[in-house]
Amino acid sequence: DTQRVKQEYQSDVARLRKIVINSLYSNRDVFIRELISNANDALEKFRLTALTEKDLYDGVSPLNVTVQAVKNEDGVGGRIIITDTGIGMSAEELTSNLGILAKSGTSEFLANTDSLDTTSSGNLIGAFGVGFYSSFLVADKVTVTSIPPKSSKHPNPSQNVFSSSADEGTFEVYPDPRGNTLGHGTEVTLELKTDAKQYLVTSNLMKLINQHSVFSTSFPIYVWNEVEKEVPIEEEQEEIPQSDSETEDDGEEAVVEEEKVVEPVAPKTKKIMVSQWEHMNSQPPLWMRDPKTVTDEEYGLLYQATFKDFQKPLTWTHFTGDSGDGVSFRALIYVPSHLPNNFFEQTTETSTSDVKLFVKHVFITSDFGEYALPKWASWVKVIIDAEDLPLNVSRETLQSSAFLKQIKNLIIRRLLQLFGRIAKEESREIPRDHWIYNTVLKLGAADDSKNRERTAALTRYTTNQRNNTSFDDYISNKKQGQHQIFYLADMGKPAEHLAGSVFVEKLHARGYEIFLMNEPLDEVLIHGLESWKGIKFQDVAKAGLKFGDDSEEEVESTATLAEKFAPLLNWLKVQVGEHARDVVVSDRLVTSPCAVVADSFGLTANVQRLMSATSR
Ligand code: ADP
Ligand code: MG
Repeated sequence: DTQRVKQEYQSDVARLRKIVINSLYSNRDVFIRELISNANDALEKFRLTALTEKDLYDGVSPLNVTVQAVKNEDGVGGRIIITDTGIGMSAEELTSNLGILAKSGTSEFLANTDSLDTTSSGNLIGAFGVGFYSSFLVADKVTVTSIPPKSSKHPNPSQNVFSSSADEGTFEVYPDPRGNTLGHGTEVTLELKTDAKQYLVTSNLMKLINQHSVFSTSFPIYVWNEVEKEVPIEEEQEEIPQSDSETEDDGEEAVVEEEKVVEPVAPKTKKIMVSQWEHMNSQPPLWMRDPKTVTDEEYGLLYQATFKDFQKPLTWTHFTGDSGDGVSFRALIYVPSHLPNNFFEQTTETSTSDVKLFVKHVFITSDFGEYALPKWASWVKVIIDAEDLPLNVSRETLQSSAFLKQIKNLIIRRLLQLFGRIAKEESREIPRDHWIYNTVLKLGAADDSKNRERTAALTRYTTNQRNNTSFDDYISNKKQGQHQIFYLADMGKPAEHLAGSVFVEKLHARGYEIFLMNEPLDEVLIHGLESWKGIKFQDVAKAGLKFGDDSEEEVESTATLAEKFAPLLNWLKVQVGEHARDVVVSDRLVTSPCAVVADSFGLTANVQRLMSATSR
């Protein structure tokens, strides 16, 4: 006991524990999902480390998660014990992982807690990866016993205990007086609160595990299950001690006798308690099933459990594919119903994509290195399960293999197909004005030159005539003789404001459609595209504008007018000095007397603003 030192939680942890304990009662069930998910993560880390450290794993001892409910002797309370044979934690790791919050996701969670509505925050716990603290939803006291495997990192591992009570702001970490009882791995013991006794009923626990964990846990989960079994009473009678040699003969005689006497007797059985480890996830993972047999609800649960999102996915696509070099796989692409926080503020380097690559149902990596999805697609969630990739392929080899590149390209292709399909279907969930069409797809068209055409085709804009107009919509509505696609870009200005611009008025009066572009990305992507279906984009605020229906007389009259107003033009040129390149007679205005336009090679005010914003 001399080695026990009470430690204060880091202040953020203390705050987080309070939030978790006080405000999330409606979602208490999440604790089991969070703890099993940690166990699964630990097993995954162990297996992945064992790929490079050959001495770590004997290849024989079981890698699994076990869950056991134990009633106290007094019959009042009880505890739940969740054990894994994973990577374990040293004393320092117990302190830093469970007592200090160093993870960015957690800080993000805390930054958001002021605006939390308590009904949904239970799921946010998981979404932000602060899962361990959900233990205190159901437990007064939590004990974590852990030991890492013998490795170069821990040459002499020892077993330690982390112990913390819900009502105290402190925890202890101390060497386990029992020595090493686990081999390697972690055992979490929850001393249940008096109002959380329902979790001692194994059938309740199993139900929760079935709902939230079996989909997303690749290692076996076993639950210690006490079941009442009816057993024939005869079995017991046979157990009456007899000499071995006589038993069989006597038994046969007895059967023969009974066959002759047929009596309607009540079955001679009795009830006994049988305890056994029950394998919860013996079914193959959901994504291996025929899509026709999977319900929407199951897809939703798998998504929420795997990607820790409280909200349901917007849509998904589930298919079988082939990487092109003979490796076949199953894939499931989910489109979340929202973008991650700060999606647009993050640079490409810091945005992480959630593509989980499995080989034969065993998780391999989420790290695609240089073949990570491009930023615009990085928010979708993907499960890939390859059938024939050799399991012993190291992550390093995998990273440089063409396989990841092929998978990346395939995901992009399928994702674009999916977006194309939902763009046509136009459902209640994904209406024509859905943000997908003017955020991420525009980002794709602006950022990802390789997929520019395909993403741009799905983007939508407001015009002077209608909303949600795609480039193809525009082309099919273009006037006869029109050989430019007209647009006016002014970032941040409402579309109505742009519609009233002097640059738009004459075109509008003549019945032309003009894209009114006010999103930061619009002008960038137009510059990247230059043309659509061979027709050039023309900024109506710039020189170079040509009407398709200019008549001979009009062209002539412009020339005559230029001659007639030459003195005025010359005087104006002197007045504006070097601020303008030229002063000309224009036919593009209807009611306004004059307009300042950008040179066709110059940047508009809008792009200049954008450039100075991004170069900061
Ligand atoms: P997250 O799982 O999102 O990282 P948690 O609060 O669930 O957040 O867990 C915090 C950290 O504690 C984990 O990142 C991991 O390092 C460690 N941890 C939790 N449970 C286990 C376990 N069963 N085995 C090993 N490490 C664990
Ligand atoms: Mg966790």
